[in-house]
Amino acid sequence: MRIGIDLGGTNIAFGLVNEEGRIIYKKQVKTEVYKGEKNIVEKMVSAINEILENNSLTLDQIKSIGIGVPGVVDYDNGIVKECVNLNWKEVNLRELIKNKINKSVLLENDANAAAVGEYLCGSMKGAVNSILITLGTGVGGGLILNNKLFRGSNGAALEIGHIIIGENFYNCSCGNNGCFETFASATAIIKYAQKLIKEGNKSIIMEMVNNDVDKIDAKVVFDAAREDDLVANKVIDRFVKYLAKGINSIINFLDVDSIAIGGGVSAAEEMFLPKLKEEIMNNKLFKSMPLCEIKKTVLGNDAGIIGAAMLDRI
Ligand SMILES: [Zn+2]
Repeated sequence: MRIGIDLGGTNIAFGLVNEEGRIIYKKQVKTEVYKGEKNIVEKMVSAINEILENNSLTLDQIKSIGIGVPGVVDYDNGIVKECVNLNWKEVNLRELIKNKINKSVLLENDANAAAVGEYLCGSMKGAVNSILITLGTGVGGGLILNNKLFRGSNGAALEIGHIIIGENFYNCSCGNNGCFETFASATAIIKYAQKLIKEGNKSIIMEMVNNDVDKIDAKVVFDAAREDDLVANKVIDRFVKYLAKGINSIINFLDVDSIAIGGGVSAAEEMFLPKLKEEIMNNKLFKSMPLCEIKKTVLGNDAGIIGAAMLDRI
């Protein structure tokens, strides 16, 4: 048995995972970042103890404990180098937890952990070179290269959301202009829908959000697109166009055999995946080569817990 913890800025999700990568027990608690680092560590220790108690297990029976952190992680030393969401810098999380439970934990960036989960137990299983692309508020990624997780020299690789792919009408949260995630995330969908509506284009989106542009989310835009709304379809077309550009760049750079699309936006896969594959195919460099596998992730939000629990296997 294994324990995986997915430490997020809003929730700490944790679970007991068996050797096959199935979650046996799962729960989540609020992170409450404002209460500080010590409180978060205590919550994770409580989570581990709760899993042990409720499943009549002892710590000796747990093969591995892993934590996915939304930031840059020094995997070898178990240190969170930088985490904007939690307001952490150089936090020796492994030591802090070991002091409480006398067992060493493995730490990994959360997108990397999710990629490990999908690679060992989900949509990327069997691939030699594969990449997970998460489409949420931003765009994240995790890369398996030659059957190994690729971390980069500082644990900061795969910040694919900040690869610059063109000029855009608004700046990225990182301060740059033209980042991939400003074209191909839930935020990108919302911003472009708001722009078109503010320019005077009529759309049923406005009825759906009671005339409050600030209430537009990606789901509303996809729902409106299903009703053949012109604005919504224009937004999705732009999203697909740029997502394809980003993915074609990744294919040209890495020649992967499998791409898994995850994150909140992937819930609407039927609205964009067929068009996306077509767009990628039309703009492919080596037209004679087959298109790599492109599909939705299968583990959903559980990928983080499962991957964290399986970190000793990669
Ligand atoms: Zn950026």
